[in-house]
Amino acid sequence: MAVTEASAGANASVPSDDTDTDTDTDTEFRAEVRSWLSAHLVGEFAALGTGNDLGGPAELGVRRRWERELAAGGWIGTAWPRQFGGRDLSLWQQLVFNEEYARANGPIRVGFFGEQLLGPTVMAFGTDEQRARFLPPILRAEEFWCQGFSEPEAGSDLANVKTAAVLDGDEWVITGQKVWTSLAHLADWIFVLARTDPGAPKHRGLSFLLCPMNQPGVEIRPIRQITGTAEFNEVFLDGARTRADLVVGGVGNGWKVVNGTLGFERGTAFLGQQLRFAAEYWRLVDVARDRGVDRDPVLRDRLADAYVGLEVMRQTGMRAIGRALAGKPPGPEASTGKLQWSRWHQRLGELATDVLGPQAMVTGGDSATGGDAREELLYSFLFSRSHTIYAGSSEVQRNIIGERVLGLPREPSGAPRASDR
Ligand SMILES: Cc1cc2nc3c(=O)[nH]c(=O)nc-3n(C[C@H](O)[C@H](O)[C@H](O)COP(=O)(O)OP(=O)(O)OC[C@H]3O[C@@H](n4cnc5c(N)ncnc54)[C@H](O)[C@@H]3O)c2cc1C
Repeated sequence: MAVTEASAGANASVPSDDTDTDTDTDTEFRAEVRSWLSAHLVGEFAALGTGNDLGGPAELGVRRRWERELAAGGWIGTAWPRQFGGRDLSLWQQLVFNEEYARANGPIRVGFFGEQLLGPTVMAFGTDEQRARFLPPILRAEEFWCQGFSEPEAGSDLANVKTAAVLDGDEWVITGQKVWTSLAHLADWIFVLARTDPGAPKHRGLSFLLCPMNQPGVEIRPIRQITGTAEFNEVFLDGARTRADLVVGGVGNGWKVVNGTLGFERGTAFLGQQLRFAAEYWRLVDVARDRGVDRDPVLRDRLADAYVGLEVMRQTGMRAIGRALAGKPPGPEASTGKLQWSRWHQRLGELATDVLGPQAMVTGGDSATGGDAREELLYSFLFSRSHTIYAGSSEVQRNIIGERVLGLPREPSGAPRASDR
């Protein structure tokens, strides 16, 4: 494998051919992104590394500052239309930005839920007042969001949510429990799927509410994972209040709106993450070389297989981009991409532990920061176990492919519908 281009990355060797498809304008744009990142991704920001460890309040402060730095550089909302304050960059340029961001080991984006999910949802389903109120603070990295969908009895079967919202004068009063709420401890706002009409059939009577986090009726309890870190939480809503007009898409239309949000999640929202996987792959190749195991015939085979998987993932990503460029929302075939990247990254983690050998059994603590390739690979291996669950579990994705792409019979009654999540 002829794969190195030393000038390209902070840590990783990268393939020399991933700029082949750039036009002249893209080449200029790539140079602009590289130069901005090399000037701004320094000091405390560079020290964050690529891990998900969201540490204590001090580190959260650095992560918020990094988001503001990105905002000041015009790198938040690059995909958003200009009419909503975005940069309306072409999908290709967004891809270039994400490629360069991954190559430079840019920190995990804690503004993800606002920029990738809530913003597009409000643009598509919100009122003008909601757009004017909520979009600018996302672009300025002044307000952060979390996603309050899942509950103990509502994951894949999302329409089963029990959290209730009742109108009290000009406010909704929300009561219920959300779980697996990523970044709730950092968020200023939560978008909540709640039942506003308990008498209506399961998929009706739901509403999509916007609720402030900083109030007495909201309690956040962290959930610690095998990584040692706690990116997600339980969120208890006990009489939490929000204004009556903060319903996106109208009262009772929550199911339609939530499916719009999930469409954004399944579509191109995780492309940036997949590009980070590519940078991780090349880091692993470097580690294999450093440890001299690049001569091991079995590990060489697996590294080559992983490269093939990486290329397949890239092509699948391109197809998703092509579809989005043609103005088509992600269809059921988006599930193939989700299955592909989640399994591929889990296998890469397993390969990383074999490349590291006995070193894989020791970590320096629960932090994946500081640019230590070994720590980052191990952290990523552990975190990757969750890929086949979030954003739609693998079993549900297979049901979607079976039923909606292949036209196979539906799941036996009683099981959640493949379209649920
Ligand atoms: C890292 C991470 C971050 C997350 N972040 C958030 C967040 O920010 N906000 C949020 O709302 N949620 C979040 N989630 C929750 C996530 O969306 C749910 O875990 C997911 O939807 C699955 O729901 P569940 O955990 O309740 O499992 P269940 O739905 O109970 O599923 C249990 C098992 O049964 C299988 N199964 C379920 N239905 C079927 C079926 N019809 N056919 C075959 N098999 C089936 C599933 O695949 C799974 O293996 C996160 C999860 C993870 C792991």
